[in-house]
Amino acid sequence: MTASTDHIAVDILPGGPALPQERRLVTAIPGPRSQELLERKAAAVPVGIGHTVPIHAVAAGGGVVVDADGNSLIDLGSGIAVTTVGNSHPKVVEAVQRQVASFTHTCFMVSPYESYVAVAEALNRLTPGDHEKKSALFNSGAEAVENAIKIARKHTGRQAVVAFDHGYHGRTNLTMALTAKTMPYKHGFGPFAPEVYRAPLSYPFRDGLSGAEAAKRAITMIEKQIGGDQVAAIIIEPIQGEGGFIVPADGFLPALVEWCRANGVVFIADEVQTGFGRTGRMFASEHFGIVPDLITTAKGIAAGLPLAAVTGRAEIMDAAHPGGLGGTYGGNPIACAAALAAIDAYETEDLPARATAMGSVIVDRFTEAQRGDARIGDVRGLGAMVAVEFVDPATGEPDAALTSAVAKAAIAQGVIVLTCGTFGNVIRFLPPLALGDELLNEALDIVTAALAAA
Ligand code: PMP
Repeated sequence: MTASTDHIAVDILPGGPALPQERRLVTAIPGPRSQELLERKAAAVPVGIGHTVPIHAVAAGGGVVVDADGNSLIDLGSGIAVTTVGNSHPKVVEAVQRQVASFTHTCFMVSPYESYVAVAEALNRLTPGDHEKKSALFNSGAEAVENAIKIARKHTGRQAVVAFDHGYHGRTNLTMALTAKTMPYKHGFGPFAPEVYRAPLSYPFRDGLSGAEAAKRAITMIEKQIGGDQVAAIIIEPIQGEGGFIVPADGFLPALVEWCRANGVVFIADEVQTGFGRTGRMFASEHFGIVPDLITTAKGIAAGLPLAAVTGRAEIMDAAHPGGLGGTYGGNPIACAAALAAIDAYETEDLPARATAMGSVIVDRFTEAQRGDARIGDVRGLGAMVAVEFVDPATGEPDAALTSAVAKAAIAQGVIVLTCGTFGNVIRFLPPLALGDELLNEALDIVTAALAAA
């Protein structure tokens, strides 16, 4: 099918779960049509906007992405943890179609509408804690994080914000300051927002500390270098995403929350990547028994439509004065319709349980591989958020070259895998939960074979 105007013609095809759920290579990756489009991209789009998989998508559904040459790739990345319910989930498609034919926009700050309020109610109900909550909607994860910090500062009347080593919170000015890794996220883009401090994380594979020891190290740094009464907020991903899917040691997060409560500091859990069933619970905070004051969400919330949220204690959320929060598109009705449909799918299709089942398949495969392969330093994760960290067996040093070679080889074989990590030495698995076991295992066969051959 070609959608066209007088001047623009773009190849699109029907997608959704009806798309054959198969890996199918009919050309090399990239094929000639994708190659041609990549050349157009290079001429029209700045190099700063990179890409991981050298194809151009024309359709996607369930757990596969079809490219312009007719190749069908198994998706183990969900567009970075977004299409968790599966690409073009039927409920999402129907809800979006209905909404787009009804109205596309009023601006919630001009004329409110019910779907925004319904998304806020769902978030208030689903996020951890039974206290009174409120939610505000935005467009992107970075925007949600920016607003969470605004709210925490206004509530506390303080300025300092503490983020952590290996943290990732976005690419806007304030969120670049919060993000740890310079290349590619920050390098040359300063000056960065002031009053952002970085504390050491719990990274069991690399620091060998207990949760209590790692928390003590972080809290000592905060108290000695900033002062507890100066801190508006601590922001942390319960499991760090871009930083390498780092699961903190038991007790680390609860100790930070306890310190925040004792010092009047707002604890913000950035669940942009971990939220919405991904880790086997609706929110990763639940695994650690913590109740954040504020929680930021995006990605999986609306199955690919741009939507993000800040949810938290009503008294903190209400600290911002009328008109102090918002934006033209925040909580756009089409994105809200998609979110309500996606949330319905998470709940009625028991997707968190599916995430747990898929995660154990992935972990088992790599734990098995690790027995005979000392290059696999660590296999970790929760639910369908699994990482494999590669090291040089002789030195234990991160092996980014091996990681990139394995990912490239898997992609060439029709499996979309993503890498991450401060040291670039982690392959991360974020499959759509609509992916069946047969395709999941086929994809893992390819990744493990690529590792054996590397
Ligand atoms: N926080 C976390 C934990 C993320 O993983 C991301 C995106 N990778 C962001 C914030 C930023 O989200 P966005 O790209 O939608 O701005």
